[in-house]
Amino acid sequence: MIRSLLIANRGEIACRIIRTARAMGLRTVAVYSDADANALHVRQADEAVHIGPSPARESYLVGERIIAAAKASGAEAIHPGYGFLSENADFAQSVIDAGLVWVGPKPASIRAMGLKDAAKKLMQEAGVPTTPGYLGEDQSPERLRREADAIGYPVLIKAVAGGGGKGMRRVDAAEDFADALLSCQREAASSFGDDRVLLEKYILSPRHIEVQVFGDAHGNVVHLFERDCSLQRRHQKVIEEAPAPGMDEATRAAICAAAVKAARAVDYVGAGTIEFIADASAGLNADRIWFMEMNTRLQVEHPVTEEITGVDLVEWQLRVASGEPLPKRQEELSINGWAIEARLYAEDPAKGFLPSTGRLEIFREHADVRLETGVYEGAEITGFYDPMIAKLITHQATRIEACESLAQACAATDIFPVKTNAPFLWRALDDEDFRAGRIDTGFIAAKGDSLLPPADPTDDMLKQAAAALLVQEYYGEPTTLSFWDHDLLAAPQPDPWRAEIGFRMNAAPSLHTAVNVDGRTHLVQLPIDWRRAPVVAEPVGDGIAVNDDGLSFLAAPPRTSGAASGATADGAILSPMPGRVIAVEVAAGDSVSKGQKLLTLEAMKMEHSLVAPFDGIVAELNAATGGQVSEGALLARIERAEG
Ligand code: ADP
Ligand code: ADP
Ligand code: MG
Repeated sequence: MIRSLLIANRGEIACRIIRTARAMGLRTVAVYSDADANALHVRQADEAVHIGPSPARESYLVGERIIAAAKASGAEAIHPGYGFLSENADFAQSVIDAGLVWVGPKPASIRAMGLKDAAKKLMQEAGVPTTPGYLGEDQSPERLRREADAIGYPVLIKAVAGGGGKGMRRVDAAEDFADALLSCQREAASSFGDDRVLLEKYILSPRHIEVQVFGDAHGNVVHLFERDCSLQRRHQKVIEEAPAPGMDEATRAAICAAAVKAARAVDYVGAGTIEFIADASAGLNADRIWFMEMNTRLQVEHPVTEEITGVDLVEWQLRVASGEPLPKRQEELSINGWAIEARLYAEDPAKGFLPSTGRLEIFREHADVRLETGVYEGAEITGFYDPMIAKLITHQATRIEACESLAQACAATDIFPVKTNAPFLWRALDDEDFRAGRIDTGFIAAKGDSLLPPADPTDDMLKQAAAALLVQEYYGEPTTLSFWDHDLLAAPQPDPWRAEIGFRMNAAPSLHTAVNVDGRTHLVQLPIDWRRAPVVAEPVGDGIAVNDDGLSFLAAPPRTSGAASGATADGAILSPMPGRVIAVEVAAGDSVSKGQKLLTLEAMKMEHSLVAPFDGIVAELNAATGGQVSEGALLARIERAEG
């Protein structure tokens, strides 16, 4: 058995590998770039070696630096994780040539599966059904166009060297072919340095079904059943599960056997995945499931397989790399229950899923899930790498229970101020069609806006913001609450007062107040019987981060006082929003005490009172009953009383 391991990766997968390696008693060595000096994988490993600047091209993708780091730290083996150099056959060969153990398949197997066209030819020879299409050498636009016409539209153009959902174009009609081909070739050339393409029949009602395979150096190959990864956004997986909904035993047996045949055809050693595309228009049937590609590495979604089989796939990888036979035979493997995984990304669903970066001021996860992450509260999400923050995985007896608990976990995800897809994930997991197993790769696109969180704060979010501010005010400075003329009962729990705010009001018929949410002021009416508990909130900086089902936003008191434009007097009373002055309770020169009502503003059919921030005198008064005021207008200024 190897005794030390260098992990040539970062993020959650590096942490995942370190966990198993450590449990097996191996010494672990992390590598890191400038941006990752404080990353979780660096903290978790026994040792860490700096390998260069932040861009992956200058660090995680530089094979020589990684091999040098292994040599310098005395690591015996290298685990590449996924992405980066994991499917780079030349790198695998260099590792072996350097006298190190490569935790992965033979370079020749990686090469055989590296190009999609060559892999498909190989599979056809091995008798594995492949998607109908064109794999020819002739790459002239005329020939490709003729082949596309012959296949029949819709057709999918794929870069032979493609990966990660890139370099693919669906073409629905002959007249669109030429343009799509050009743009696909351009993307392929710039992303993969190879502009060659293949053509495939675009499968309608497509489902992505893949089979986990494992081989050892003694000629054994087993499969660990299938996963369904049909929930995709732009050909990138978002939610994965095992087993596949609607899979019957005969179909499972057929595709798992095809997967084992595929792995044997390339003399496969280690963990691999055979990806298939299924035409699910009439359920899953072996006659309508075709080989798509093989990923010669550990897959992002491997945890769902681990959950249903009870196998630690990283442990198997390390054993196999050490020359041991597979720990289990095929007959000893079976499916237990249902597992689902959601990929939590740092991106803003309300803004077209734009990546979101920054420091994780708050990072709290639901306790009852398997969490695979590479970050921690206080860590920085940079723009240098993949925006995946974590994977959440649940395992239950049935699919419905697994969906239910994962939806809950996504809704309970509390991350601030970085935006995440958590509110999108729970909506997808909660969807009626998803729950019924009516899924295909077009699911997310077809559901459109119904899976998106609201772009503007909802009435309920504003109420939560108002409640959070009131509670903070109550606990911070109870006296300032007096003018509200109501009782506020809050039951803060540890950690510090955040967590669960039980909320109940009595007395006054309703409470209206102004809150500033994500920089805009809103008037909120908080009715006496409003009982939406708990509100998840936590003070940060000048405001409170409120989390509503995975969606976090910043609540702050409206800007009613503070420095007015130019003036620096902190007793400035500003109008929180455009409105009309309906009452002025004081006159210039009056002395006022803290909390005393100065004037009342009406906006959006609600009244809002402005009060003195401290004891003092009314040094300036610019408001008259009936006057219109704009947001931020200086209405009055209180000068602090001496002493
Ligand atoms: P999977 O089917 O396991 O999701 P993908 O093809 O989507 O596989 O890639 C796996 C992961 O590796 C993704 O998170 C992707 O962003 C990342 N990845 C893919 N190619 C590269 C690369 N060249 N460099 C770094 N990361 C990559
Ligand atoms: P990558 O290397 O980027 O993972 P794949 O060939 O695995 O590329 O395809 C990625 C995704 O594109 C699949 O999961 C599937 O959703 C879709 N796809 C691929 N081939 C087809 C096809 N022939 N018909 C319909 N969808 C396809
Ligand atoms: Mg793929």
